[in-house]
Amino acid sequence: MPEAGNKKRIAIFGSTGSIGTQALDVIRLHADMLEVEILTAFTNDDLLIAQALEFIPNAVVIGDEKKYEKVKAALSGKNIKVFCGETALEEVAEFDTYDIMLAAIVGFAGLMPTIKAIKKGKVIALANKETLVVAGDIVMQMALEYKAPIIPVDSEHSAIFQCLVGEARNPIEKIILTASGGPFLGKKPNFLVNVKRSHALQHPNWSMGAKISIDSATLMNKGLEMIEAKWLFNLQPSQIEIVIHRESIIHSMVQFEDGSIKAQMGLPDMKLPIQYALGFPKRIKNDFPRLDFKKYPTFNFEAPDVKTFRNLAIATEALHMGGNAGCVLNAANEIAVWAFLNNLIGFLDITAVIEKAMASVQFIKQPTLQEYLDSDAEARNFAASLIKI
Ligand code: NAD
Ligand code: MG
Repeated sequence: MPEAGNKKRIAIFGSTGSIGTQALDVIRLHADMLEVEILTAFTNDDLLIAQALEFIPNAVVIGDEKKYEKVKAALSGKNIKVFCGETALEEVAEFDTYDIMLAAIVGFAGLMPTIKAIKKGKVIALANKETLVVAGDIVMQMALEYKAPIIPVDSEHSAIFQCLVGEARNPIEKIILTASGGPFLGKKPNFLVNVKRSHALQHPNWSMGAKISIDSATLMNKGLEMIEAKWLFNLQPSQIEIVIHRESIIHSMVQFEDGSIKAQMGLPDMKLPIQYALGFPKRIKNDFPRLDFKKYPTFNFEAPDVKTFRNLAIATEALHMGGNAGCVLNAANEIAVWAFLNNLIGFLDITAVIEKAMASVQFIKQPTLQEYLDSDAEARNFAASLIKI
């Protein structure tokens, strides 16, 4: 961490996404405390260039190698290093010149750069939940070994993290992860069978990237978050409860051994958990809109319908299985969601693809990192062969 009075230098991996752009909004507001050191994007060269011209980072990475020359030319004379490709992502993650990695790449692609940053002892502000779903045991072990603090950005996990401040000596009895229920709350399979991409992308409370929006619609997002929570807070599966809370004001809760429950609340705005992670342990003053309880006279709570939203049941199974089950679940889900977004399969087919991949890929109880990478590749290939892509 920087000396008191110095700015924290932030590396945003996935700066052109929903989390990445909101993180830049936060940094823009707090330029006296935070500065941008690295920006990375996959294909959106125009936005990456605009961001780099505004924030003048030390380095940028464009994933798509075909776009390298354009980015390089646009940033020439600005003293910004420009790199491209997957290996470059891992190399810049090892730079000494930043303090906090905001891990905001979507999906499995976020895993290796995050591991590189952990090995450098960086603070990890973790949005990329897939990193823990794929290889949570190895990642958390490494974080301990290399003294790399992991501060969650996912709103539910940020809520739990905030509830745990000052409670280091008090064991958790259980956590209550809240879920909005997504755009199809209360719907049944006869409705879901016909839903289309544009419909599934409309989340009632949050504006997010395409993949997590679909995961929210299928409830897979909550399944991934259960596994994420297990690793972040060292929990048994039986200590994790899901409650649908459609208002998305209580972001999650912790119940302690005396039965007392702490909740963290606020308007649904990802800038809050992003800012908390970048500022931690300090809360930074801002003028974001405040919650007015009078506008929310009723908070609703109900159990999730896992018979209809079977992804949540499958993810719960993976949570209990451990080993490479989360990795396989995630890989198959990434392929199935991609296929749904490209109108190749229907909404309910997403579940079928995941279930078949889980049944096909060999279970490994204690995988090595290489075995996780291999399980991911195998599950992806299997899922792709089912969809014929
Ligand atoms: P997004 O799709 O909007 O953005 C993804 C970013 O990752 C982009 O900058 C893109 O260029 C980059 N990227 C995509 N594929 C890549 C690849 N193969 N290699 C390198 N870079 C790649 O996604 P998002 O909604 O911002 O979500 C990012 C992560 O944060 C996800 O893991 C998501 O689950 C998590 N998260 C998001 C939200 C939210 O509100 N958006 C909330 C909680 C957690
Ligand atoms: Mg979340």
